[in-house]
Amino acid sequence: MSEKVNAAKIFGEKVFNDEVMRERLPKKIYKELHKTIDEGKELDPVTAEVVAGAMKDWAVEMGATHYTHWFQPLTGFTAEKHDSFITAPDNEGNVLMEFSGKELIKGEPDASSFPSGGLRATFEARGYTTWDCTSPAFVREDATGAILCIPTAFCSYTGEALDQKTPLLRSMEAIQTQALRLLRLFGNTTSRKVIPSVGVEQEYFIVDHEKYLQRKDMIFTGRTLFGAMPPKGQELDDHYFGVIRQRIGAFMKDVNSELWKLGVPAKTQHNEVAPGQHELAPIYEKCNVASDHNQIIMETLKRVAEQHGLHCLLHEKPFAGVNGSGKHNNWSLTTDDGINLLDPGKTPHENIQFLLVLCCILRAVDRHADLLRESAADAGNDHRLGANEAPPAIISVFLGEQLEDVLRQLVSTGAATHSLKGGHLHTGVKTLPEVSKDATDRNRTSPFAFTGNKFEFRMVGSRDSVAECNVVLNTIAAEAFCDACDILEKADDFELAVHDLIKAYATEHQRIVFNGNGYSEEWVQEAERRGLPNIQCMVDAIPALVTKKSIDMFGKFGVFTEKELRSRVEIQYESYSKTINIEARAMIDIASKHILPAVMRYARNLAGTANELKSAGAVCAVPVKVLEKMTGYLNEAYEALDELKNVTIEAAEMESGEEQARFYHDKVTVAMERLRKPVDELEMIVDKEEWPMPSYGDLLFEV
Ligand code: ADP
Ligand code: MG
Repeated sequence: MSEKVNAAKIFGEKVFNDEVMRERLPKKIYKELHKTIDEGKELDPVTAEVVAGAMKDWAVEMGATHYTHWFQPLTGFTAEKHDSFITAPDNEGNVLMEFSGKELIKGEPDASSFPSGGLRATFEARGYTTWDCTSPAFVREDATGAILCIPTAFCSYTGEALDQKTPLLRSMEAIQTQALRLLRLFGNTTSRKVIPSVGVEQEYFIVDHEKYLQRKDMIFTGRTLFGAMPPKGQELDDHYFGVIRQRIGAFMKDVNSELWKLGVPAKTQHNEVAPGQHELAPIYEKCNVASDHNQIIMETLKRVAEQHGLHCLLHEKPFAGVNGSGKHNNWSLTTDDGINLLDPGKTPHENIQFLLVLCCILRAVDRHADLLRESAADAGNDHRLGANEAPPAIISVFLGEQLEDVLRQLVSTGAATHSLKGGHLHTGVKTLPEVSKDATDRNRTSPFAFTGNKFEFRMVGSRDSVAECNVVLNTIAAEAFCDACDILEKADDFELAVHDLIKAYATEHQRIVFNGNGYSEEWVQEAERRGLPNIQCMVDAIPALVTKKSIDMFGKFGVFTEKELRSRVEIQYESYSKTINIEARAMIDIASKHILPAVMRYARNLAGTANELKSAGAVCAVPVKVLEKMTGYLNEAYEALDELKNVTIEAAEMESGEEQARFYHDKVTVAMERLRKPVDELEMIVDKEEWPMPSYGDLLFEV
């Protein structure tokens, strides 16, 4: 048996958490720091100095030699630069371990190489990382040793956000201000904070590391660019929730231990739909912490997989023909005194505050469906959204029978008088306990589903930061709350006004509600009739960031300036183009240097066999028939390869921006598909021993 794990004991042991702070900081300093964490009061230098000293002592006791400002630039990855704690040697050659308050709160990475979308020229390379003291520091151990990681935000010299965290923190302030206004209108005088809570379900694939190393496409792009379907895919649904294989189980066990030590509340694990696919979900936390923790989860999955001779694929679509991976972003709004604004209670029709919040969110999603869609757009996710597995590319809201019924009552009569009940579950077996049912069944095809007391946004790609979608969710909800409060604060008769407003919003925005099958063709047509946007790909999604309504809203709530939005647009186009460029070049490389030579080797073999059989007097046309079939595909592949080379060169020569990204989408990805087709056919013909890389079957079923 493997070693026992005591989750309660190890949880948070590598985190500079509240318990450690209370233990190690002088009372006064602890209180001061909490004023910053809880109330956003500016941190004074004296407090910072003392906190830094205590943090360093603690980290050194944990074996840390270095610290790093850990941040999330717009590369899609986290970034870090390590500095050791040592001071310059004294006269006797001895060093001390030191860490100042200044080093804790501010870093200055020479950051000219991070994407800035024109916000910074290389000659003005200054960028600052600043401590986000609301997300706890932690000590991470890997081959580099133990490193004290300090979660930070990353801004330019002039204060523009160059990262994921800064706008997220800004959006949290916006939603807090507006949600508190709304609560006050309903007579709540006690809640002091409203915090978006987020729980992120993370999907991933695991393959054998040795096999991974033989797949150049995976190494360069994170996904397979070629690959014929194996005899078996996911049609039997036997992987979903199936018994976890021992080798994967050992990996998951270590992942959990690592995460618990880092204070990440890993909770749920299971096999997912596709063979080789799995999921991990932690318990929900404060939005910015959940976003940081999701990054830690992704890093940990990668690192621990390697220790087990495995490789973790976080790409949205590692394999054609089976499901891809996403993240479900569960989102709710909670006050510091424990009220969940999205909790309908047992009788939602009587819960006026809930109905207003709900209608505001419908309004927010309806008005800014394009922004939500954009927040989930990336090159990898283009393979999922709208492709009959992940949610469709059309944004709609699933409310479930109970709430949809309440909404119907509101729209038709202006008042809701009753709520449907869940009742009891009848199994037909006397010995099974009687359980009560939820008032609403689930819907797995909706991109934005109400699930009891939270919304679940299901479009996010598996590799993406969840910061982006939460920035959008927080801000669009803030705007809707703000609009509602502007009206209600002026009303003479609050009861009447709120009633009218709920009805007005419900009526105006009911088109965004859809409870049916989001994968069906009828829905695509119905959505079009309703005037809902159906944004097919990343390149089409990007412009949503800089529409007038987007610029106005993000500006009004101080989340993004227009300049920041325009820089992000530029970064996104560029990132799309670069991604496709790398994929195209990887295909060209693999096809030219590995696949075509292997096919030709096999063709020569076949020709030799045919000749030998003939001279031996055997009558057998098989080698010749196979050869004919093969040469047909070979010619097709060669032509497609040529075409791909040409369009890739043409694309790379264009100036970066929208036009280039469109060209990559319209021309290069199409040429890639054209090359893939005959190659996948060839894989089914050529001797497995000759094929230059492991097959889908090897990768998906032999872990
Ligand atoms: P479901 O079965 O509806 O997907 P789970 O209980 O499996 O829900 O939870 C999925 C994720 O949602 C988990 O990360 C969980 O912690 C999170 N979650 C649960 N309740 C809330 C809430 N009120 N706000 C935000 N996230 C939540
Ligand atoms: Mg879920």
